[in-house]
Parts: sequence; structure tokens; C-alpha cells
Amino acid sequence: MNEETLVIALAYKKEFEDEDTSDERRVELITWLQMRAEEDGYDLRCINCKKTIVIAYHYEAVAEGHTYSDAGEREVSLTRLCEFCFDKITEDPTDKWPDYYAGIADDTSP
Ligand SMILES: [Zn+2]
Repeated sequence: MNEETLVIALAYKKEFEDEDTSDERRVELITWLQMRAEEDGYDLRCINCKKTIVIAYHYEAVAEGHTYSDAGEREVSLTRLCEFCFDKITEDPTDKWPDYYAGIADDTSP
């Protein structure tokens, strides 16, 4: 655990990780923790979205500034990007190719 990073307060960790918690509520928890951290003078912000980086384990990022995995935590120290932004920047571009372009790619596959 990097001391510069922020883990969601223990009292809210259980609620955040509960599978019955809605993503809207998770966003609320992240936002609340970012506000608290900023009031406390905590200043580790993502260089892309400028949001305070908070770590709360999950299977995907739910808000700007959210980092949800051990790998993401390591990426923060290397890139200064929250995992939300890191995932957006590095996502597989083939997911966004128009259908015709994907078709060409299929035709030319070995
Ligand atoms: Zn970000």
C-alpha cells in the first residue's frame, strides 16, 4: 500500500463492496470520500480528470478518480492516472471500430 494513495474509509468499504449496493451509491461514496480527502489537504489527483484518486476495490471503475484494483494502484504511481481514465485511454480500439472496418479486419486475418 502506497502511503500516497487513499483507500476508502473502512466504515464504507463493506457497503461499497456489497454486491447489492448500486453503482449510483458507489459513485456517491467515491464523491464523498474525494470531498473529505480534499478538505483534509490530500492532494493526489489524476492528471487527466483532475479528480482526487481514491482506491476502493471493485471489478470496474465507477467514477472519475476511482481506482479499483492492485494493478490500478500500481498504475497510479507510474502514470498518475486514475484507473477510470487509464482504462478509457488503453481500452481495445477494436471495440469501437465501425462494423465494416471490423469486417475487413476479419477478412484479412490469417
Ligand atoms: Zn482520472
